[in-house]
Amino acid sequence: MPHSKYDAIICDIDGCLSPEHPAPTDLCTIAKIAAWNRRAREAGDVPLLTLCTGRPQAFAEAVARMVGAFGLPIVCEGGVWLLEMDPYRWSMDPRITDGHRDLIREVERWSLAQFEGSRLEIGKAGAVTIFHERGAEYLESVVLPAVWTRISDKGWPLRASMTWTCVNIELEFISKASGIDRLLASTGLKTERLAGIGDTMSDMAIRERVAYFACPANADEKLRAHADFVSDKEEAEGVLDILERLKG
Ligand SMILES: [Mg+2]
Repeated sequence: MPHSKYDAIICDIDGCLSPEHPAPTDLCTIAKIAAWNRRAREAGDVPLLTLCTGRPQAFAEAVARMVGAFGLPIVCEGGVWLLEMDPYRWSMDPRITDGHRDLIREVERWSLAQFEGSRLEIGKAGAVTIFHERGAEYLESVVLPAVWTRISDKGWPLRASMTWTCVNIELEFISKASGIDRLLASTGLKTERLAGIGDTMSDMAIRERVAYFACPANADEKLRAHADFVSDKEEAEGVLDILERLKG
């Protein structure tokens, strides 16, 4: 039986398996990706696909159920958690203390009080994600600079950055990179036997920890420059196209 050069594929969710902005997920293609993972579990001749996302655990779990990402830990909330579906358990990065979690709650309260019209992504335990009714431009020009100033003035161990749609405030020592490092440490998977898929610069954490990295067509130009392959198909169809090239 031919075996892949890779033992696992680490795949981002938003902009890869599901649309970046709220829109219906391409379930026909997701079903084919789920069939890939079934084959990986049952025949073992293709690598398992697991997930690495900035989204909260509950969202990651829902996607994991759809694509059958059972068998390897999932990095969620940008490295705050490792989630396993079988056995069903999850663990927070052990470096996050009660003090850090209190700080995150404080930042949540401050953000809501400071930015009228803001709302916070639900389900985050060790990070804060701010959306605003005035949109991404307002977030980038008004909210993000104010957050940076607050972090600097307070000396908080946090960093803040902009995505397409929101501001992320994260503990400075937690990231997709630290989450993947925990994934590798807990499984014994080796970088030289891994493939990865991502669409934005936060996925450089995946790029730097895999031997082969690919992007769907919608990926950020800056990230595409670091890819071994860029599909001409978008989002989930792009992921499926990349998987087909990882066979045997
Ligand atoms: Mg993404």
